[in-house]
Amino acid sequence: MAKSKSNKMIYFFSKSRTDGDGTMKSLLGGKGANLAAMTQIGLPVPPGFTITTEVCTHYYENGRKYPETLLSDMTKAVSWLEKETGKKFGDPKNPLLVSVRSGARDSMPGMMDTILNLGLNDDTTEGLKKATGNGRFAWDSYRRFLQMYGDVVMGVQKRHEHEHEPFDDVMDALKKEVKAKEDVDLTEEHLQELVKRFKKLIKERTGKAFPTDPMKQLEGAVGAVFSSWMNERAILYRQKYRIPDEWGTAVNVQSMVFGNMGNDCATGVAFTRDPATGENVFYGEYLVNAQGEDVVAGVRTPLKISDMAHDAEIGAAFKELNQVRKTLEKNFGDVQDFEFTIEKKKLYMLQTRHGKRTALAYVKIAHDMVKEKLMTPEHAIKSGDPEALNQLLQPIFDTVDYEKARKAGRLLATGLPAGPGAASGVVCFSAHKAEEWAKKGQHVVLARIETSPEDLRGMIASEGILTARGGVSSHAALVARQMGKVCVAGAGDIEIDYHKGTLKAKGVTLKEGDPISINGTTGEVFNGKIATADSELKQVLVSKKMKPKDSKVFQYYDFIMKLADKYRNLGIRTNADQPDQVENAIEFGAEGIGLCRTEHMFFEGDRIIAVRQMILAEKPEDRKKALAKLLPYQQKDFEGIFKALDGRPACIRLLDPPLHEFLPHSDNRKGQEEVAKQLKITVEQVEKLVAELHEFNPMLGFRGCRLGIVRPEISEMQARAIFQAAAAVMKSGVKVKPEVMVPLVGFKKELDLQVEIVHRVAREVMKETGKKFPYHVGTMIEIPRGCLTADEIAETAEFFSFGTNDLTQTALGMSRDDSNTFLPHYQELEIIKANPFASIDTTGVGQLMRIGVDKGRSKKSDLKIGICGEHGGDPSSVVFCHNIGLDYVSCSPFRVPIARLAAAQAALRNPRK
Ligand code: ADP
Ligand code: MG
Ligand code: MG
Repeated sequence: MAKSKSNKMIYFFSKSRTDGDGTMKSLLGGKGANLAAMTQIGLPVPPGFTITTEVCTHYYENGRKYPETLLSDMTKAVSWLEKETGKKFGDPKNPLLVSVRSGARDSMPGMMDTILNLGLNDDTTEGLKKATGNGRFAWDSYRRFLQMYGDVVMGVQKRHEHEHEPFDDVMDALKKEVKAKEDVDLTEEHLQELVKRFKKLIKERTGKAFPTDPMKQLEGAVGAVFSSWMNERAILYRQKYRIPDEWGTAVNVQSMVFGNMGNDCATGVAFTRDPATGENVFYGEYLVNAQGEDVVAGVRTPLKISDMAHDAEIGAAFKELNQVRKTLEKNFGDVQDFEFTIEKKKLYMLQTRHGKRTALAYVKIAHDMVKEKLMTPEHAIKSGDPEALNQLLQPIFDTVDYEKARKAGRLLATGLPAGPGAASGVVCFSAHKAEEWAKKGQHVVLARIETSPEDLRGMIASEGILTARGGVSSHAALVARQMGKVCVAGAGDIEIDYHKGTLKAKGVTLKEGDPISINGTTGEVFNGKIATADSELKQVLVSKKMKPKDSKVFQYYDFIMKLADKYRNLGIRTNADQPDQVENAIEFGAEGIGLCRTEHMFFEGDRIIAVRQMILAEKPEDRKKALAKLLPYQQKDFEGIFKALDGRPACIRLLDPPLHEFLPHSDNRKGQEEVAKQLKITVEQVEKLVAELHEFNPMLGFRGCRLGIVRPEISEMQARAIFQAAAAVMKSGVKVKPEVMVPLVGFKKELDLQVEIVHRVAREVMKETGKKFPYHVGTMIEIPRGCLTADEIAETAEFFSFGTNDLTQTALGMSRDDSNTFLPHYQELEIIKANPFASIDTTGVGQLMRIGVDKGRSKKSDLKIGICGEHGGDPSSVVFCHNIGLDYVSCSPFRVPIARLAAAQAALRNPRK
């Protein structure tokens, strides 16, 4: 790991001195770097200091020991902070209190919870009481501190699953004694008693007294943050998201401000724009007289940020907040998700980071902010999640049916539009039921008073999520943003009764299983079913029911896609074998076909009869006769494809699958009888044929170029169909660019033999038609031997295309179709990190690909190389393909936009010379 030269372990941030800045996320963590950045641009940040991630790394590399000077440096830092704030650690007259906050590069669940109010003890609590004139506040802060510190630093937690939280137990007991219903019913005296009992609990459990010296408290808290880096939850999270252990966490020590000193105080979270729709509106919520994470915890229902403007006490702070909103966007160049506290009408900023958003919000925000010159075009591309673009294809309500429902008064309630799109299905009140019904193929809308992490699986299984309570930072809204779920949150007018299994609104009562519809773009909830329609994007690009100028969503999407095209080096092709698929793919931005599977055409209509006759034929003449019947069909198909491509390249693969796939299985007697009738032979003959074609391991059997080598007539017919189609389409004035691709080549000689046929047929067709069409012959590289001998193969091949499905199967010795019995276990045990059939196994299969590229280009430096396996539409695989220097990727039509964005990101992160 690269170490910074200096031994500087602590970075200050305050008005008078700020050592770090926003670019130092790896050293200061995300939170620390941005606290420094906010301070630098003059935002009101309570002063503090950040202990670097390198200290954490040192700690773990040296048997959990701190660097020698850390303690003395920390003491100096505290003295500095005392001067900055004019307060003193442990001074009863004017005590300095701090928060201790963990901070990895990206926010990371599983890390230590923030400790607030550190520095309190019996004396300073009295001091805080005098300074604020609010004894209850002071003692409440103290008991909270004891509780947090006792739990996360001293480890006073429940000892087994069935025990209550020990601090809660003590508090509940006291509440019972003094007949207090709520926490707020406890008086100052009660809280003093509670503090005594908390101390006793800590002593009993740990054998140690609660440290009264603030410096000792701080040492303990800092140690706890560093230790939490290696706690089980944090380790698990890092494994899941592939965050290296060496990154470490930073610790932020920051002077406290209080949002809980009265009604002229508040705390809140906000986004500079709406992260669900991307609208340029201030978005967020706050609680008056509250501290820390009260807003997120959902103890009280927070107010909308816009309501703050009308608050008599803190209305002025809102004006400032609105100004901050602009400053943040201007300086951070993206939508910010930030946390703030108002203490006695004065605003303080506590955190900011780039906001997570839906795909709709992503394209709109990127479009708007680039036009407003607030965001760089590069950031607009880099900040998108390619996979999430799928959300833009999600259905919306059918306009006619939607209007009908509105006119009929079926609108039940309106909540927060938290996840765009439309969902219609049966209502369901529990996550496990949602899962159960979804498994049976039902469309389910999960309705909950509020959701929690336990509901996650049910939420994933549902078409949409509806909650009665909770705002923009509620769990449901968060999940919707991150997973692209249709979601209406906090629809306050609905009343859900889990016990009775009912949802009530506007005098209507729905029972579990009744139809319901929600519009996550507007927040509307409707009684009954509403038909859904294609997303706007599909209506513009596929069905053409909408014009581009009428769809804002399309315009934002199109803006991003065109921007992406400016940056990417990789070409984007599509895997398609029908003209309509080709047309769709071109609308989505495909620049040609990367894989046209000819065998798909063999199954249509009567063709299958000719195919079977071909298979059955014993003599080459008979086979030729059968193939002659197929030729016109294939030619017509190719003509359609060439026309749809309008001059773009078409990479067509010669016949690939084992022949038995065209015959009914041995256990399908009825099918065999039918074939016998079709072919005018006996059932026994069919049976015999099926038995002959039976293979123990068809994947490695008589398939690929092996078919064309043993039965050259097949390749000859296919080449003829391709070239006759090319000539015919050329005659109609349309350009053609056929590329003939030979599958499953492992030996140069295999390719030589097939190429010879293709060239001969091309010459014949040119002569017969009088048309000179351009064409290329190349090969798929999809078995390890092909990669290893790519230099030899490149002598013949004019292009390569990696068939990563077969390459993965053969390199790993794992059949994709048989892997489901063990692959999930492999993933659980982390033998493999991701499904290798979805995302290229870069260390293994990727190495073979590198060899293939290097060897191929060593013979032909300008050899065109692409990929046509399923991996071509997987963002991380696209990045890999860029990095090893491929010319293009090819994927299914609807994944073309994903590949375009992923390719642009790859180019920006790792520019080609
Ligand atoms: P997380 O990483 O979970 O977001 P934070 O470190 O941001 O944790 O702390 C959680 C909350 O604690 C903050 O949102 C803020 O409300 C409160 N908090 C943290 N530091 C301070 C402080 N110095 N003064 C007042 N409140 C604070
Ligand atoms: Mg937290
Ligand atoms: Mg926070």
